[in-house]
Amino acid sequence: MALKLTFQFYDLPLAHPFTISRYTVNVQKTVVVCISDGEISGYGEATVNPYYHSTVERLTESISKVKPIIENSEMIHPSDLWQIVAPHLQEDYFALCAIDEAYWDFYSRRHKRTLRSFWAAADENLPLTSYTIAIDSIEMMQQKIIEKPWPVYKIKLGTQNDLQIVELLRKTTDSVFRIDANCAWTADETIEYSKIFKQLNVEFIEQPLKANDFEGMKKVCEHSVLPIIADESCQREDDVNSCDGLFHGINIKLTKCGGITSALRMIENGRDKGLKIMAGCMTESTVGISALAQIAPLLDYIDADGALLLKQDIAKGVSFDFGKIRYSENFGIGVELYTEKSI
Ligand SMILES: [Mg+2]
Repeated sequence: MALKLTFQFYDLPLAHPFTISRYTVNVQKTVVVCISDGEISGYGEATVNPYYHSTVERLTESISKVKPIIENSEMIHPSDLWQIVAPHLQEDYFALCAIDEAYWDFYSRRHKRTLRSFWAAADENLPLTSYTIAIDSIEMMQQKIIEKPWPVYKIKLGTQNDLQIVELLRKTTDSVFRIDANCAWTADETIEYSKIFKQLNVEFIEQPLKANDFEGMKKVCEHSVLPIIADESCQREDDVNSCDGLFHGINIKLTKCGGITSALRMIENGRDKGLKIMAGCMTESTVGISALAQIAPLLDYIDADGALLLKQDIAKGVSFDFGKIRYSENFGIGVELYTEKSI
């Protein structure tokens, strides 16, 4: 039966303005791809993101370009479809991610299975998801923690008073902290902060240095007393090899690496190298988060709070109960869209 690919852009309003070291977002634009045989539909998502050059125009162009390839393909394995589509989307892995997620969802629903059943026997020992506290006044950051009791917080830093922020937030909660500096620190600052933050029950530091500061990373990897996880330095599959020896772990984002197919290969490669494996999200809806949650059984850490930061979601699927992943009962990635629109 012939497949049909459609896609729709949505505006996701955020509950609070979301600020990291580079920018602030109030409304997150995102695209949802649907692959259907007329009976069963699969969904995938990719966000608009200026840092990664993902725009509405580019996503539209990329998805439209490969639409005929997908619509003319036979029922093949998702990793085979990825191999066919990826060469056409070398410049746009965000689009590749949305398509790959949608096809995995479709494929597993077609087989009447949950997606994660292809690699995980049971929903046991799942990592707790962190909840992100974005950069704000210290009072507002404390307020957000009080409003959202959670076992693990990811604190965004890269301000003039990073130490003071963590010291004061520590007075607000005993929960675990993870720090994400989004490339804002120097090597010496990172090594110094790691000692202080270790005392403040910080679990790890994510991407302290600029993505191309290899000399600094090597020094930090040797001298930091906390594990250092790559994010901006680990975007595509090949980056796992270059992170070896420079980081203690990697944060895989499905949009950056081109979807679930490539994430599975990165997990395998990272494990072989003895790296800790984390996966993270963009500020995205429950569609993308439900896809991400399917790889949770393979991870050490997960940051899947994207949809929790929204004022309004577009789908139901995976949910989180004080950090614990609660999967939907449905097959595939388990999502149901609230409004079914296509263009
Ligand atoms: Mg990060």
